[in-house]
Formats: sequence, C-alpha cells, structure tokens
Amino acid sequence: MSECLFCKMVSGEIAPDKVYEDDDVLAFRDISPQAPHHLLVIPKEHIATLNDLEARHASLLGKMYLAVKAIAKQEGVSESGYRTVMNCNSDGGQTVYHIHLHMLAGRGMQWPPG
Ligand code: AMP
Ligand code: ZN
Repeated sequence: MSECLFCKMVSGEIAPDKVYEDDDVLAFRDISPQAPHHLLVIPKEHIATLNDLEARHASLLGKMYLAVKAIAKQEGVSESGYRTVMNCNSDGGQTVYHIHLHMLAGRGMQWPPG
C-alpha cells in the first residue's frame, strides 16, 4: 500500500471531494481552499516532483491541462479566469510529493505570487 496521500485518493483508500476523473487524471477540491474555487488536478501515476518527469509523461501533462479546461467550464469560471500553479520542492512550496496542478479561481489573483 502506498504511503502517498494522493495515491490513496487514486486507490480510493481516502475519498476526495472529486470534481473530475478519467483514465489518467483525478481532480478534487483542496482541503484548505485559498480561493472560492481551489481544485487539485493529479496524474493517477505517482510522480513525486516535476524533477521526476520523463519524456513519456508529456501527454499526461497535456491531459492534466485539458482536465483544467473542462473543470473551469464545469465550475463556471472559464471566462472570468483562473490560475494554475505547480509547486516544486521546498522553495516552490511543495508539501505533497505527488505532482498536482492547483487551479484557483473566483477572485482576482496577485502577481507576482508570494
Ligand atoms: P502543495 O503545497 O503545492 O504541495 O499543495 C498541496 C495541497 O494539498 C495544499 O493546498 C493542501 O491544502 C492540499 N491538501 C492536503 N491534504 C489534502 C486532502 N486530504 N484533501 C485535499 N487537499 C489536500
Ligand atoms: Zn502518489
């Protein structure tokens, strides 16, 4: 059994507040939302950080962004807009070591991020 929190969501050991799922990707609401809409899009395959990406993952990353597009429509924020962020390692602010794309929407975002 994996010790990875997000792998446990993929396997069903922990039930996330799911908003989207296909063969390769799962998306759910962040437990500590930083915006009115805060979703996390993860690959079902365990990849710890962006540094662990391989060439064979190229289409998987594309599928994660296509999921964001579908979720934005579902959440009704496609036109108002949203931000996607993927944090890497400690300076990037990564706390869960299974890559995930944050999607934040429902308020104006600041730039640069803190
Ligand atoms: P990061 O800091 O980029 O690694 O993001 C990890 C995210 O996972 C944070 O925004 C957390 O709030 C979120 N998170 C942690 N545990 C859970 C959980 N059980 N369900 C949903 N989101 C979670
Ligand atoms: Zn994992």
